Amino acid sequence: MPQSRWSTAGSIRPRWTTAYLLGSVFAALAVTPAAAATPPTGGAQASPTPKLKALQCRTACMGVMAGHTGSRVRVQGKSLKRVDSVVFQGAPGAADDVSVAPLRAKKTYVDARVPRTAVTGPVRLVSNDGAESRPTPMPLTIDPTPALPATTSDGLGVDVEVQGNRVFYGAEREAQVSYVVRDTQPVTVAIELVRLSDGIAIVRWEPGAVAPGVPQTINWDGTAGGKVQRDGRYAFRVFATSASGATASSAQAPAPGTPAKSVPGSFLFQRHIFPIKGKHTFGTGAAAFGGGRGHQGEDVFAKCGTPLVAARGGRVKFKQYHSAAGHYIVIDGAGTGYDYAYMHMRDASLVDQGDHVYTGQPIGFVGDTGRAFGCHLHMEVWKAPGWYSGGSPVDPLPLMMSWDKSS
Ligand SMILES: [Zn+2]
Repeated sequence: MPQSRWSTAGSIRPRWTTAYLLGSVFAALAVTPAAAATPPTGGAQASPTPKLKALQCRTACMGVMAGHTGSRVRVQGKSLKRVDSVVFQGAPGAADDVSVAPLRAKKTYVDARVPRTAVTGPVRLVSNDGAESRPTPMPLTIDPTPALPATTSDGLGVDVEVQGNRVFYGAEREAQVSYVVRDTQPVTVAIELVRLSDGIAIVRWEPGAVAPGVPQTINWDGTAGGKVQRDGRYAFRVFATSASGATASSAQAPAPGTPAKSVPGSFLFQRHIFPIKGKHTFGTGAAAFGGGRGHQGEDVFAKCGTPLVAARGGRVKFKQYHSAAGHYIVIDGAGTGYDYAYMHMRDASLVDQGDHVYTGQPIGFVGDTGRAFGCHLHMEVWKAPGWYSGGSPVDPLPLMMSWDKSS
């Protein structure tokens, strides 16, 4: 196991990060020799090819994609009802493939127990007429030691605390989990970030051996595989394996139907924050998008002097004064391709052209500079390539209303 290079103080970065977004990766996968060798089904009516979407370890796990011999795993997908064998592929080539009959096979999922001789590798499904799914793009990590019950006599345990219940993408404060492992000697740890809407782990950190009793932290920047992730609830899970092979985790997989809100260690992740920090009213008619003669934004009325924050962080493209727009700025939203313009501000913006701003960072105050009747924020949202540079404006109202509801 590689040596952890984590410090004991301050915020520390994962040694490596990877993402496995099963659904999107599948399409790009090459067919393995095993899958290509699917025998013809003869004249019989072939059943639909089983399709995999996600794999999750469910019991005695070291991670969502990591378990022991004897762990129960669930493969989710489509057309799985006729699956009669689950193949643990191990290394490339058929020599170490191990097949088992599923514990159960339903239309959308198949459960199976990791057989004794299975080794780390992808998993695929075979229907009773020979139709085969593609293998999972990420291997299932299999520890050949049978799992011991959690928190054994040696006292292995893990305590987890998530900072904050809500995190905005691009904000100054990232999603962060702190954890402490309890044992008599260093413990091997993996941390996964799970998207609660479908239970898929989208990021995994493997800090290696962690000293017991010493608080550790992990930060998540809101991305997986280089992409900003969707709004919703996420949870950190910390998996610990002691030197003797005992496992413990910060949270067992929640029972189906558990409201995401009550999953321990979970937090709400949002890509935008509502920009007006005070009472406000959305304009209609001429004050709405497309109103009057081609109004390109939404007017939101609020008292002059109400603080404004960046709905989405990014780089300040323009900071100017214009006879109609008054004091305004345009922010190139990080990771969006969209530009966000804020107009009629009371004074020149608090941030400068070229600055990087965080989501939620103060940018100025509601005003009525330029051609404005009444104090309001005129907000524009432009598609790539952006504001007056080849993009086109979209109606910000539905976006702003959804940010408002959740901010
Ligand atoms: Zn306006």
